[in-house]
Amino acid sequence: MPRKEVLRIEKLKTHYYTLGGIVKAVDGVDLRVYKGELVALVGESGCGKSTLAFSIMGMVPPPGRIVSGKIYLSDINLVELSDEELRKIRWSKVSMVFQGAMNSLNPVMKVGDQIIEAMLYHDVISRPEEGRSTVKHLFELVGLDPNRIDSYPHELSGGMKQRVVIAMAMALNPDLIIADEPTTALDVTTQAKIMEVLKDVQKKTGVSILLITHDLPLVAEVSDRVYIMYAGKIVETGDVFTIFKSPRHPYTQGLIGAVPSIRGPKKKLVALPGEPPDLRFPPPGCRFHPRCSKAMDICGKKEPPRIEFGPDDFVSCWLFAKEGERK
Ligand code: SF4
Repeated sequence: MPRKEVLRIEKLKTHYYTLGGIVKAVDGVDLRVYKGELVALVGESGCGKSTLAFSIMGMVPPPGRIVSGKIYLSDINLVELSDEELRKIRWSKVSMVFQGAMNSLNPVMKVGDQIIEAMLYHDVISRPEEGRSTVKHLFELVGLDPNRIDSYPHELSGGMKQRVVIAMAMALNPDLIIADEPTTALDVTTQAKIMEVLKDVQKKTGVSILLITHDLPLVAEVSDRVYIMYAGKIVETGDVFTIFKSPRHPYTQGLIGAVPSIRGPKKKLVALPGEPPDLRFPPPGCRFHPRCSKAMDICGKKEPPRIEFGPDDFVSCWLFAKEGERK
C-alpha cells in the first residue's frame, strides 16, 4: 500500500536579497515526509536547513523570499496561499518547535494559559475553561505533571519548558511538526529525554516529524529516513541504515567520519577540511568540490546529476554517474 505523503517539496528555491548579493540558502530542494515518519534533515550550520523550515511555515524573514518551487502539505500548495490562508494552516496543520523556543515562553503568563491562548486564536475552543482538560492531556502526553498547567515558566526546568513547547506544538493536532534543533541549550541527559518525548508523541499520535539538526548520533538514534543538505542543496537521501552503514556522498562520509562511535570499533576521526561556501557565491559545478578529496575535473564545471537507487533514495555526485556522462 502506498504511504501517505504529508509533505512534498519540489524544486524549492528560497533566496535572500541582501545588499551584498543574493544568498541562495535553499536552491532547488526536493523532500518528502510520509505519515507517521520521523525524517531528519542534516547539515552544517548555514547550509539552509532553517530557511527550509521557515519556507514550509511561510515565515521566511525579509529580505528573503520563496523564488520558485512547490510545498505541498497534504494536497495544498502552501506557496500559492495568501498570508491569511497560511495563518489558518500554520499550527493547525503544521507546527514548529523553534531553536531555543523554551526561552520564548511569556514569563508573566502561566504555561497552560499560553497554550489555551493559541487554541482560542485558532477557534478550537470558545472559552478558556474548555481548553484546560486538553492542555492537561497534552502535558500527560509529553510526560509533564498536569498540575503544572498553572506554573509560570520560571518555575520549570529547561527540560520541562521544552516539554511545554512540544505540547504547544501538538495543541492543534497538526499533521506535521518541524523540530528545529529542539535540544539545543539543554544538557545531554535532558536532550535524550526530550528526544524520547518527541518519539513517544510520534508513536502515540501518528504525527509526522521533520527533525532539523547537525547532531548525527541523535539522527541515528531516532530517525526513519535522512536528508543530507549541503550549501542549499540536498546531496543525498536514504533510510537511516543506508545513510549510516554505507553513505555514498563524500560529504555524508565526511560528516559520519567526524563523529566518534561509542559502540563500534575504535576509529580515527577525520575532520572535514575547509569551510562551507559563501552562499552568495557558491562554487560552480558540485558545491562541495573545493572540500572533496575525490573531486574530478568535471566536478568543478558541471552540477552533478541526481542518481536514483530507489524511491526516496538518491545521491547527487559524479562518482555514481556512468563513465560516458562524466564528460
Ligand atoms: Fe566530490 Fe565530485 Fe562527488 Fe562533488 S560530485 S562530491 S566533488 S566526487
